[in-house]
Amino acid sequence: MDGIAPNVAISPNVAVLAESVIALRRILHQWPELGFQETRTSALVAEGLQALGMEVRTGIAQTGVLGTLRGDGEGKTVLLRADMDGLPIEEASGAPYASKNHGIMHACGHDGHTAILLTVAQVLAQYRKQFSGTIKFAFQPAEELPPGGAKGMIEGGVLEDPRVDAVFGLHLWNGLPVGKIGVDDGPIMASVDRFDITINGVGSHGAYPHTGVDPIVVGSNLVAALQTLVSREAPPLAPVVVTVGKFHGGTAFNVIPSQVELSGTVRTVDAGMREEMPKRIERIVRGITSAMRAQHTFNYVFGYPVTVNDVNRARFARRVAGTIVGDINVVSAGMSMGAEDMSYFLEAVPGCYLRLGSGNSDKEYIQPHHSALFNFDETALPIGVELLAQLSLSYLSGRD
Ligand SMILES: [Zn+2]
Ligand SMILES: [Zn+2]
Repeated sequence: MDGIAPNVAISPNVAVLAESVIALRRILHQWPELGFQETRTSALVAEGLQALGMEVRTGIAQTGVLGTLRGDGEGKTVLLRADMDGLPIEEASGAPYASKNHGIMHACGHDGHTAILLTVAQVLAQYRKQFSGTIKFAFQPAEELPPGGAKGMIEGGVLEDPRVDAVFGLHLWNGLPVGKIGVDDGPIMASVDRFDITINGVGSHGAYPHTGVDPIVVGSNLVAALQTLVSREAPPLAPVVVTVGKFHGGTAFNVIPSQVELSGTVRTVDAGMREEMPKRIERIVRGITSAMRAQHTFNYVFGYPVTVNDVNRARFARRVAGTIVGDINVVSAGMSMGAEDMSYFLEAVPGCYLRLGSGNSDKEYIQPHHSALFNFDETALPIGVELLAQLSLSYLSGRD
């Protein structure tokens, strides 16, 4: 059948939905919505879950949706998570089902995640007499928009009543060919934090720099000095990124401005190192600005924590994934310095976040996530459905 990759073990209940999960993804792809504005998407999700006779909660963390499927009798509780938001990008993929919302695009694959999870709900609703325990389907807003939707979903109680014992989720991953599944234990994605710095100097004529204090020169020294946090202060084997992504100042070629503004991001995988970074950055900001006669303000905001997979859940997920794509195709997807608010779920409950291969160089699905040209091999979608369905059923049957 179209839509199913060869050499993949897909159960009949999933195989019959292979075309519908792709069709659903294309509908979602055409109507991407930004974080906390996913009203159309969450209405579609809520209707889909209600049609399956599930308990449905809406409006969690603004646009989040939770479906709860109770099996036959008492047992453990598993939560499956998908994110629903798009990005502020004008789509240039040329796909016939390209975005109809100008300036907004599903360029990360969250349309696929939502389509997969809604289809998993369809599959598992058919099995409700055959498992004991509870399966929760969490569709969260705003993964791309820190502080993100995951935290609000957790604060909104999605992990309680009944208490969740394990969480699973997946991300379509163009860095892996379709047919492969990436499972890693321990840290898999970095933390993401943000800093904002204002440097106040004294504006003057460009020809008479000695009459002012040039914040552009101070800022330039600062950008270079901040890199020593990575090259001279972090152990060479501990990944840290410090990026100044914004440096604004000045109005004319011959005027020294009075102020510049810098903003940047810090990525780490070590909690201790992460805690240290605000102090270290401020020490350099203070030192450089005072050495060069300027003033500063400094603000640091902790964003998503490190995404950490539980060792035992990862081992379990590797085994389940192997039954679908073959052990040889269950691989390490490596550590990414990107970040994810799935990390909040994994902080609260042991679980595993998997990377689902969706790249295909033959079909030119090679663009990176967040590119205006991004697209992925849709034959990954039924594999994702099978994967989350089997993870849930195996976990609830105690084979973890
Ligand atoms: Zn993304
Ligand atoms: Zn994403």
